[in-house]
Amino acid sequence: MIAELAIDLGALRRNAVRVAGVVAPSRYAAVVKANAYGHGLLEVARALEADVSAFCVYSVEEAAALRTGGIATPVLILGPIEARDLELAHECRAAITLWSEGAFRRDAARLGRSRGAPLAVHAKVDTGVTRLGLDAEYASAAIASYCCDPDLNLRGVYTHLAAAEELESAYTLAQLERFERAIAPLVNLLVARGVLRHAAASAAALLFPSLRLDMVRAGIATYGIWPSPETRAAMPFDLALEPALAWTTQLVTVRAVEAGRSVGYGCSFITERPSAIGVLPIGYAEGLPRALSNAGFALVGGRRVPIVGRICMNMSFVDVTGVPEARTGSRVTLVGRDGAEAIDANELAAAAGTIGYELISRLPSEIPRRYVDEKAASAAPRSSVPS
Ligand SMILES: *Cc1c(COP(=O)(O)O)cnc(C)c1O
Repeated sequence: MIAELAIDLGALRRNAVRVAGVVAPSRYAAVVKANAYGHGLLEVARALEADVSAFCVYSVEEAAALRTGGIATPVLILGPIEARDLELAHECRAAITLWSEGAFRRDAARLGRSRGAPLAVHAKVDTGVTRLGLDAEYASAAIASYCCDPDLNLRGVYTHLAAAEELESAYTLAQLERFERAIAPLVNLLVARGVLRHAAASAAALLFPSLRLDMVRAGIATYGIWPSPETRAAMPFDLALEPALAWTTQLVTVRAVEAGRSVGYGCSFITERPSAIGVLPIGYAEGLPRALSNAGFALVGGRRVPIVGRICMNMSFVDVTGVPEARTGSRVTLVGRDGAEAIDANELAAAAGTIGYELISRLPSEIPRRYVDEKAASAAPRSSVPS
């Protein structure tokens, strides 16, 4: 084993139930793009199927993978798709996102007509991310045209927020206002047809009740990771999100070196004392950001040790001088718990100048993922002991 990701499906389920409980009666859609934030698309979808009202993916390929894997829950594709993929979206009963009145919208309608069943669509309104979406000022006409087109099945209208994670309340509430203004002329029709209005990702879902609308699209919180330290600090009550992912590897060797010795490329770390340097079999190609060179940390033997030297493509170093029992094969935890110590994805990401989202979504899909249910596993032996 070079490295391993252990994914606690029980923790995922409990997070889903917690988030769903916070946002109820709004619906809860789990965002599983980017290989379920590195946790593994199908396994996560299977674990959460019973607790969510929809899955959000980025691409049509991800939607197809869910269907091939036997997932029957509604699926919404958030990202752009090509006209030639409309057929695949239709075949896998995935809703697509529409934000234009152009050729693509006509292709979508034409496909529905030729198949005798309209394609499910959600209209996206841009209220301030300036990414994808109908310009809020002019969105009503387009939404009305989708809504009245018998060859389209309008199932939702949504927007995306720019700064809820940073608690920019003024900007966030202005976005909500722009969104509500864009749909105001149609709101009765939308409600009558059960068209879902949605705006909130995890941070807004947890902190801004007025943004929960009919549904929230929660990704990061589902995985037990806070969208930002600000979000966590601002939570008005204790929400016990459980990180579902643990990332471990093991020491390939431990080198006893004298003081004054250089470690790694660029001679960026020189030992200041006789040291034990542990070599890890993972580097930036395995998802360990190079920015963690001389800046990151890991757990060995339940103790926090520094990452030293530059992170190589496939290897890296930790200073295990303070862990006398460290030897070849000792477990190294990059994210997760070891005894009393734990490293959260956001904490390691911050040391690399990034955020938990980036760290976990870049974990290569080739790393073996092991699916566990920690609480169920630890409960089982106890329950078999006669009382
Ligand atoms: C990724 C994404 C989300 C989920 O965001 P989290 O902060 O992970 O909850 C929601 N909506 C859209 C449009 C997204 O792209």
